[in-house]
Parts: sequence; C-alpha cells; structure tokens
Amino acid sequence: MLRSMREVLRNLRWPVLCLGGTLQLVRAGPGKDLVRRFEFTDKGDIRMTKYVAFSGGKDSTALALLLPDSIPVFTDTGAEFPEMYGHIEKFEKVTGREVIRLKSKEGSLLDYMRRTKFMPGHAARYCTRIFKIEPFEKFTDTYAVAIRADENRKGNTSDKVIYPLREMGIGLMDVIQICTEYDLLPRYPVYMARGGCVNCYYKRKSEVLAMDDFVPEVLDELQDIEDGVQDKRGRFAFMFPNSGMSIRDIRKQMSLFSPEDVYREASDKSDYGQACGMFCNR
Ligand code: SF4
Repeated sequence: MLRSMREVLRNLRWPVLCLGGTLQLVRAGPGKDLVRRFEFTDKGDIRMTKYVAFSGGKDSTALALLLPDSIPVFTDTGAEFPEMYGHIEKFEKVTGREVIRLKSKEGSLLDYMRRTKFMPGHAARYCTRIFKIEPFEKFTDTYAVAIRADENRKGNTSDKVIYPLREMGIGLMDVIQICTEYDLLPRYPVYMARGGCVNCYYKRKSEVLAMDDFVPEVLDELQDIEDGVQDKRGRFAFMFPNSGMSIRDIRKQMSLFSPEDVYREASDKSDYGQACGMFCNR
C-alpha cells in the first residue's frame, strides 16, 4: 500500500516536515536549524517553482516524490529505452500525478543523426542541448533539478534553477530509501548505466556488449546509423568512443570469445565513461 509522505520522510537521516504545499527540512544536530523552505506557487518569489526536471533516474524520482506539489517534466529524445517510458508510467500510476512529456521540434535524436550524418559525442554534445535543455527551457525557465548533496556537480548558474536535494543535504542513500518506499527505485538494465538514450556516447564497451546480448535489434539500428554517417575520406567516427571501436567490431569481438572473457576485458578502467548531464538519466 502507498505510504504517506510523512511516513517516508520520518525515516530520513534528518527530520522533514511536510506541511500542505510547503516542504521544510530541519537538520538534526546542535546549531542546525531550518535549512530551507520551498513553496510551490505561480506567484511571487523567483525561488518558488513548481516544475521538476524529471530524467527518469533515481535522483529526480526522489525529488519529485519529496515535492508532492511539483509537476515532473520529462524531455524525450525519442531515443530512450522502453524501460524509461515504463518507469514514467509507473510513477504516474503510483503517485496519481501526470508527468509532462516534451519533445524537440527536431523530432527523434536517431532521425536527426541520420538526417545530418552527425553523431553526438564528448566534443559535440548537441543531443543534450537540442533534445533535452532547449525543449525544457522553452517550456519553463524556473525549475528544480536533482543534484544530490554528495555529488560534485555545479549545475546551472541561473538563479531561476534550484537544487533542493543538495540544499537539503539529501544524498545517495536517502534517494534510494525514498524511491524504495514507493516501490519506484528504477532498476534499469546494465546497458542503461550511462545515459537513457540507446546511442549515448558515455556508454562503456561492456554496456554495448550487454545490448548485443539483450537487445540486439536496438544495436542493429545503431550499427546501421553508424555505418551510414561515415565520411569515406576521414577517420571512422565511433558512436561509442569510450570503446575505441565501431559497433561492428565490438560485435565481432563478442563472437570470437566467451561472453565472460569479453566482459572482463571490457571492464578495464580506460573504458569507463563519465557521468551524464543533469537532464539525462543517471
Ligand atoms: S543520455 Fe547521452 S545521448 Fe542522451 S541526451 Fe544525455 S548525453 Fe545525450
């Protein structure tokens, strides 16, 4: 049965009082008093916001749960895994709240890559800008983002963007607890460890190999796109640069050795990706 917000918050490391449309958090311990008070209304102070940037990951899920009057907003790149849409639908069912879905005027990220023959990468991160940030900021420029207190990320410098988790001292264990209490902890497949998009260039080789194992039809489409965007005169451009290989070669490697050996080889630290952005699933 769905637990009340008060019940969930009672078990957090710090006591939290949830009063109607407001959320207050008081740190326990000597000298620590009221940290911040958030109110959700259209009127008045710029720090009042009602939208939460909802990436579909555990942090933004917890933030949306902590702020029961907020409206979660998800920007859909059109290249998301089905599990992502499943989590959003489950969130709506469990909470009875609607998640607003936004899309870029450019359509799907995969179609955009085909059309422009240009894949996003570490040096050309247009995917987040065109398919996540721009549609979101066209919708609203005042919103809350789920950066935790135990993360070393700055976020947006705009004073219209607020970071309730960080400001309330909520870390990873709290986030897991909040999501678990609602049976809303997203437990995505290993190939979603870096980015909700099927093509995310942050993915490690091991994650691409896992896609070949579990969702080969998705990798077929990505291989087709990677082959189709190559400029015959230049160097081969990798969709998954952390792997240092084309998708075709990654798959060949998979077929030459036992999956265990390939996964072990692929877990080398040089293959590790980096964290995704604040609008992407993490
Ligand atoms: S998940 Fe990856 S590919 Fe998708 S928008 Fe974010 S950085 Fe880009």
